[in-house]
Amino acid sequence: MSIAANNPNLKSWIEVPENSDFPIQNIPFGIIKTEGDTARVATRIGDTVIDLKVLFDFGYFADLHFGLDDFDTDSLNNMMRRGKQGTRDLRSRISELFEASNGDLKNNENHLNQALIALDKVEMVMPVHVGDYTDFYSSEQHAYNVGCMFRDPDNALLPNWKYLPVGYHGRASSIVVSGTPMHRPKGQQKPSDTEPPVFGPCKLLDFELEMAFVTYQGKPLGDSISTAEADDYIFGMCLFNDWSARDIQKWEYVPLGPFLAKSFATHVSPWIVTLDALEPFRVSGPVQDPKVLPYLEYSGDKHVDINIQVAIQPENSEEKVVSNSNYKYMYWNMNQQLAHHTINGCNVRAGDMMASGTISGAEEGQYGSMLEISWKGTKPVPMPDGSERKFIADYDTVIMRGYSEKDGVRVGFGEVTAKILPAK
Ligand code: MN
Repeated sequence: MSIAANNPNLKSWIEVPENSDFPIQNIPFGIIKTEGDTARVATRIGDTVIDLKVLFDFGYFADLHFGLDDFDTDSLNNMMRRGKQGTRDLRSRISELFEASNGDLKNNENHLNQALIALDKVEMVMPVHVGDYTDFYSSEQHAYNVGCMFRDPDNALLPNWKYLPVGYHGRASSIVVSGTPMHRPKGQQKPSDTEPPVFGPCKLLDFELEMAFVTYQGKPLGDSISTAEADDYIFGMCLFNDWSARDIQKWEYVPLGPFLAKSFATHVSPWIVTLDALEPFRVSGPVQDPKVLPYLEYSGDKHVDINIQVAIQPENSEEKVVSNSNYKYMYWNMNQQLAHHTINGCNVRAGDMMASGTISGAEEGQYGSMLEISWKGTKPVPMPDGSERKFIADYDTVIMRGYSEKDGVRVGFGEVTAKILPAK
């Protein structure tokens, strides 16, 4: 498949700083607010935000099948109703308008003044109204590491792990956009095997380095989406910090799985990068052995090469990068996850968010959680201010970044950041 907007030779008449995640080949979608105005849909090239409601009003999308309420709205859910072809056409039109040789908008000062906004004048808000959130557990190295810590290396992976993408239903209401401050959660913990549980602030607060994909409206209840069809039902991706309270989790999770240890907050990056924009960075995945059941078989390169990173910044200190991983390390890909999710007839809706699970590479330095990085607290990580971390401390800011790069084009996600405040 050839997508014109992905042409690596395209240049924009908008200046793009070196190493920007947002060249003209990206064209992500997000929701902005500016002083005195309501939320609306936008995109971004370099450090310039482009108000798509304004461009719609001026007629630049007149021949596309969009209405005002697709752009004059506080989530991307409305425009997602237009489906894969609709958003592909929109991204293509934006690419044409901002391509270096196109003067239609460039030479219209009145339109430019209203449509282009400097990044620092914009507040990014939650891009998607998330109806349902599912968290998978699809990185083999992460599952192996956790299995080693809590069981033993010979039985690290449970018997189902290589037969199905393990997942659970998460909490959608507490997914918030990058920058939203978060209080340390409280809950029950069981520090002693012989004493009753205690209640208090979580002591083992952890991040999980994940990527999530956002779906279009799926099929009716009772129908399934195949691995071959899955691409048509995936709108785009974002960075995803799936916070976890390890001490609360350890006590509560038997027998039904994660609950309050996960539901207190999840942070996402504000720009949804379309699956179309990520197409050039597709790579093959690992050989799956044992062979998967037929409904999980797939063809083509369905993994994506996305460099992902986590840094911890203690208050009044430099940051310290604690992990450099890659989304391509996933054992199960998005197509398999979506096929598995719907094989029982479960319907997905526009704006559903499906997260990868913590993504860990095979080497130390590539682990996607403090649980693994500090190996259950046995290997503290030194910080630039002289302190050390086994888990996340109050007033720490956790920063995740991600980008793909190939043929001189870098398409990225920017950052998802969150500062931890003391328990309320
Ligand atoms: Mn998770």
